[in-house]
Amino acid sequence: MNIFFDCDYTIIAMNGGLRPGVRELFQRLKDDGHTLYIWSGMGISWHEVRKHGLESYITDCFHKPLFDYQRRMKGMGVTVVPDMVIDDYPDIVSALGGVRVKAYLYEKDSDTEMEKIYPIISAFVARNGHSSDTSFFEIPQPLPNLDRV
Ligand SMILES: [Mg+2]
Repeated sequence: MNIFFDCDYTIIAMNGGLRPGVRELFQRLKDDGHTLYIWSGMGISWHEVRKHGLESYITDCFHKPLFDYQRRMKGMGVTVVPDMVIDDYPDIVSALGGVRVKAYLYEKDSDTEMEKIYPIISAFVARNGHSSDTSFFEIPQPLPNLDRV
């Protein structure tokens, strides 16, 4: 699947620090054959990706639409259709489907939010499009093409 991660407050704190568990999560998802993207309402995030040494996990970075997501994606140069989004902003997750995470504003070593994502995605794939976790938002129709995983 094409999995899109938000940058600010999803994987990066306000001071630029990387959220605990991000690298481990990216590694597991890549090992399972998923394709990972980073997008941000602040622009293209290659700088943050490289700063934290994550470039081997990330296929591309895009500018993220902040409203009217489905329609604005193409105009903003998003050349790949997200199968699932991971974001701290609930509206985009309910619109596009995926996993809502708690905002990571301040660096906190004990933050475990990234650990909940892998089981949700694994369950989603195993159950062909569903997860019972309350942080999971149903993917809008048409369902993603799971054959690509
Ligand atoms: Mg965010």
